[in-house]
Amino acid sequence: MPRRREIEVKSWHEQAATPVCPLCGRVIPASQKDAHHLVPKSKGGRQTAFLHRICHRQIHALFTHAELVRDYSTIDALLAHPEVQTFVDWVKRKPPDFNRWHEEKPPDPAVAVVAPASRGIEAGTSRHGRDVRPVI
Ligand SMILES: [Zn+2]
Ligand SMILES: [Zn+2]
Repeated sequence: MPRRREIEVKSWHEQAATPVCPLCGRVIPASQKDAHHLVPKSKGGRQTAFLHRICHRQIHALFTHAELVRDYSTIDALLAHPEVQTFVDWVKRKPPDFNRWHEEKPPDPAVAVVAPASRGIEAGTSRHGRDVRPVI
C-alpha cells in the first residue's frame, strides 16, 4: 500500500487539500487559513473564500463592512483596489506562513521575550452559591 502524503507537491489545481489564496496566489498553510465571507452572512451571503490570515486582516483593515458589501464583494473587485495591489505585491514575496504585521525583519530574540499573553482572562472567582454550605 503506498502511503499518501498530503504535502506532496502537484500542480496547484489538483490538490484540493491545499487551498490557494485567491488574493495573493500563494498556498495557504492550515495554520493561516481564514474564511472570508465575500458577502457578510447578515446580508444573505453564503460564499466564502479561504485567505491567508494576513490577507484577510488586510481586507478588513482597508474596508468597512459596508464597503465590502457595496463595492468589494468579489475577489476581482478587491484586487482592483490599488492598496490591495500594493499589499499583494508585498506579501506574495513572503513565505506562505508569514503572519507578522508591520514587521519584515526576523524576530529579535531580545524583543520576543517582551510579549506575554496578556489577555484579561482571569480565573473565575464568582461562582455564586459556592460559598453557601448545604444545610443538612
Ligand atoms: Zn472577512
Ligand atoms: Zn494570501
